[in-house]
Amino acid sequence: MSGNTSKPGLLKRLAGHIVTVHRHRKEVRRCCFACGLYRQGITHDLSKYSPSELFESVRYYQGYRSPYSYEKELFGYAPGWLHHKGRNKHHWEYWYDLRDSKFSPLPMPFRYLAESVCDRVAACRTYQKDQYTQESALKYFLEKPERLSMHPDTAAEMERILRDIAENGEDAAFAHLREELKKRR
Ligand SMILES: [Zn+2]
Repeated sequence: MSGNTSKPGLLKRLAGHIVTVHRHRKEVRRCCFACGLYRQGITHDLSKYSPSELFESVRYYQGYRSPYSYEKELFGYAPGWLHHKGRNKHHWEYWYDLRDSKFSPLPMPFRYLAESVCDRVAACRTYQKDQYTQESALKYFLEKPERLSMHPDTAAEMERILRDIAENGEDAAFAHLREELKKRR
């Protein structure tokens, strides 16, 4: 396929997107279960099957990155993403509101922050495939400026957990997270 920039056909894009979502949800479920987050593991990203998100993602499917990244590049915004982040509490973007007349971040409740960590690990695995290492999610977090838009408490906690994964591996870090979630519930 190298050098071929033509868009894949509808069925290819539909199948490709469904498989990507399915694999991603399976990975997130595995991580969430390891943290004891059963309900969140099962319901993670279900809105991706809603028409508002599904049709658009299939339309802009490329296979090697999120369809929303492609769409944002083309139009400057992606309505499906706005739908997604407005309904899914595991995204830090959900936790924004007016505070003292200023649109600003709220600290993420810990169980959604933990789900967000699972989401990051799973996304890195899905997109990086055999290039994935236990440091991948931390590297991605530190390289991207998005952490500067999070509530400082959220950014600090996320970095701490991702560092635990990078240094001690997923099994140990998710076991720690499971204990912490029990205490903080
Ligand atoms: Zn999501």
